[in-house]
Amino acid sequence: VHVTNTLELRANEQSVDLQPASDAALRFIGVIRTPWKTRDDCPRQGHLDGPSCELIVDPVWHEALQGLDAFETIEVLYWLDKSRRDLVLQSPKSDGHTIGTFALRSPVRPNPIGTSVVRLDRIDAGTLHVRGLDCLDGTPLIDIKPDRCVFTPKAPPKAGDARPDGPKM
Ligand code: SAM
Repeated sequence: VHVTNTLELRANEQSVDLQPASDAALRFIGVIRTPWKTRDDCPRQGHLDGPSCELIVDPVWHEALQGLDAFETIEVLYWLDKSRRDLVLQSPKSDGHTIGTFALRSPVRPNPIGTSVVRLDRIDAGTLHVRGLDCLDGTPLIDIKPDRCVFTPKAPPKAGDARPDGPKM
């Protein structure tokens, strides 16, 4: 049986008792529109040639998108809001074999942050059209950044950037 959306534990999974989370507050910056209405419909990981999805950025943040269209791929962070958050051991295959939460990319984690590198097709009035997501329609959007693999810092280097075998800063 494939368990996706219950409080039931699979064989050998382990949860911990937690107080309600209250130590950090995020500001969601928008919402993600995808074709997927149930978790079973979602891909486990998005693909750059997957269906087009939309990042609807709140108007107050539209100016913050300036310059982003220079990047073909961007990193998206989102809040996997339908996840339970109390498992330390998980059994992805429901076969009694468990793996630690931090050794997985499961949506079930203490702070259910999902990340994907997505292809940026275009930006239209604060809506980003992207491919490569794997989340439910309506998932809250946390952050957007240029893909780190193609990003060169705009600020000048600082002492901490010095490499042991590189030039002295
Ligand atoms: N790509 C992200 C990562 O690696 O951090 C997320 C990977 S996670 C395995 C993707 C799965 O999370 C989906 O297949 C779906 O089962 C589940 N999921 C998607 N949206 C969710 C949401 N809003 N709340 C809870 N679970 C969600």
